[in-house]
Amino acid sequence: MTREIDIVSLYPKDMNIYGDSGNVLTVERRLALYGYEPRVHMVNQNDPWPDHADIILGGGGQDTGQKKIIEDFFRRADLLRSLAQDGVPMLMICGLYQLFGDYFATIDGSKLEGISIIPAYTVGQEVRMIGNLTEESDQFGTIIGYENHSGQTFLREGAKPLGHVAPGMGNNGEDGTEGARVHNVIGTYMHGSLLPKNPEIADFLIRTAVTRRYGSFMPDQTTEQAEEMRRIAKITEMARKTAAE
Ligand code: GLN
Repeated sequence: MTREIDIVSLYPKDMNIYGDSGNVLTVERRLALYGYEPRVHMVNQNDPWPDHADIILGGGGQDTGQKKIIEDFFRRADLLRSLAQDGVPMLMICGLYQLFGDYFATIDGSKLEGISIIPAYTVGQEVRMIGNLTEESDQFGTIIGYENHSGQTFLREGAKPLGHVAPGMGNNGEDGTEGARVHNVIGTYMHGSLLPKNPEIADFLIRTAVTRRYGSFMPDQTTEQAEEMRRIAKITEMARKTAAE
């Protein structure tokens, strides 16, 4: 039986700041350590869509990067919407999180329409929200990361926050929410990269993707792979402790 899992890295050229490509590496590595065969498909503007898309990962970008990809993004909007509705796990950080919402009104007065997978809208403000960030979430416990954005995102009915932060940070600096959850789509402002420091989220994406494709998640590890997983867990634990201090 094949154990391939297809990962789509969405716009790695223009939407990948503050280490967001680390999310792709983490999912790829963990899948391999669980005994699966990950295949990463980088989809930039005008690139073909792969035959399979089991997990879709997108990163953050400058307002200019967001403007660059928007046309191509809209050509893929129906496809992304139907995959999201079908339950394909997706992780969208910052700039792509904003464009998964209804719109992003940038600070220079332009308005970028989003593809409305996440019921939310974003408005750019003068003061950027920058800093390390810790949030509490029901599903993943404490999530740690780093935010840097001008956009304030406000969730609409139908979007649950990913977690809660101290007001002054997160989605908009006002209501204490951070990120959003719809279907199996996670949108968040957390860079850092997010997944190496929050393996619970990586494993949620992996389990969901594998179960959708093969019916169940059945790791098949060599002793070396299990040992490597424990080593990674120790490093992660250290990084999480430092971040929490
Ligand atoms: N350009 C967007 C903003 O400033 C997103 C930034 C990001 O992806 N870090 O809000």
